[in-house]
Amino acid sequence: MIEIQKNIPLAPLTTFQIGGPARYFVDVTSEDQIREAISFAHDNGLAFEVLAGGSNVLIPDIGLDKLVIHIVAGHHSFSGRELEAFGGCNLKELMHRATERGLGGWEKLYGIPGTIGGAIRGNAGAFGSEIKDFTHQIKAINRNTGKSRLFTRAECGFMYRHSFFKHDARWLVTTVHVHLDKIRSNQSMLLCAETLSERERRHLQNVQAAGSFFMNPVAPEEVQKKFEVEKNTKSREGRVPAGWLIEKVGMKGARVGGAMASEQHPNYLVNTGVATATDVLELAGRIQEAVYQEFAIELQEEASIL
Ligand SMILES: Cc1cc2nc3c(=O)[nH]c(=O)nc-3n(C[C@H](O)[C@H](O)[C@H](O)COP(=O)(O)OP(=O)(O)OC[C@H]3O[C@@H](n4cnc5c(N)ncnc54)[C@H](O)[C@@H]3O)c2cc1C
Repeated sequence: MIEIQKNIPLAPLTTFQIGGPARYFVDVTSEDQIREAISFAHDNGLAFEVLAGGSNVLIPDIGLDKLVIHIVAGHHSFSGRELEAFGGCNLKELMHRATERGLGGWEKLYGIPGTIGGAIRGNAGAFGSEIKDFTHQIKAINRNTGKSRLFTRAECGFMYRHSFFKHDARWLVTTVHVHLDKIRSNQSMLLCAETLSERERRHLQNVQAAGSFFMNPVAPEEVQKKFEVEKNTKSREGRVPAGWLIEKVGMKGARVGGAMASEQHPNYLVNTGVATATDVLELAGRIQEAVYQEFAIELQEEASIL
């Protein structure tokens, strides 16, 4: 049985810590509860939005005059080398449970905030590893019909920070099946610790942000060359880091109100404490404009603007 609440502040449920309240709000921990929440929205003529770990979203300052379906941790189980998990399960927690059982292989993903469902939607990844590499099949529910279906890995349409579920927002990820490798627990723990220290070295920690705000764009050849020469590294799949482009247009450290393009990692748009969603969007817009003017590259948001 779901419990619909009213006027729930959303900012504390996001890593940005920005945004107004939800007019209606419900926590769901299973596919049946998602279906119930969808029925409630349909029966009451309400639009609805999905929020999970809140680590890749920007909520508007006025909040959402909708039902927010908050997908939180639910059931998970192991069978042999397969993990089946409800989409609202926290990815890091699942990795701990797998490690305890001597299952792993996905340790490079360790430390990515949020849920496994959110990770599937955006094909989350780090250090050359992506959630798609471990995904076997996905169960998703259609928000219009309330009907569920299974998607094979091939049907998930995974690409760089993209999946079928991002492309077609009718489908909400309810259950994720991943295949893991046998590994000694202490070996897996060691690899997780290595990933964490690499993240501490290369990423920003403990900031109010949504991770990388823009996706790394495919760049014209001359821009790729410039990046490769300057950084003495190969660009991957023709992409250059958005953070590098932001730096090149002189917007590292740029501010609008309380929002700032981080000095250490310019693709992190950081809430310095008093930022509004309007500040973040204004800053993002200025960055997009500057990068377009200089490089004729259109930066696309990785974070969801709800
Ligand atoms: C400090 C920091 C570091 C980060 N590092 C990385 C990184 O290394 N690599 C990386 O890829 N990302 C990174 N991110 C971004 C973020 O952690 C991932 O995108 C994460 O997978 C989002 O999951 P979530 O549960 O928080 O989704 P949310 O932020 O709650 O939602 C994001 C979007 O997905 C939708 N959504 C959520 N759950 C579902 C579902 N079950 N079905 C359908 N749609 C859904 C939401 O409606 C929303 O549009 C980082 C973020 C932060 C704050």
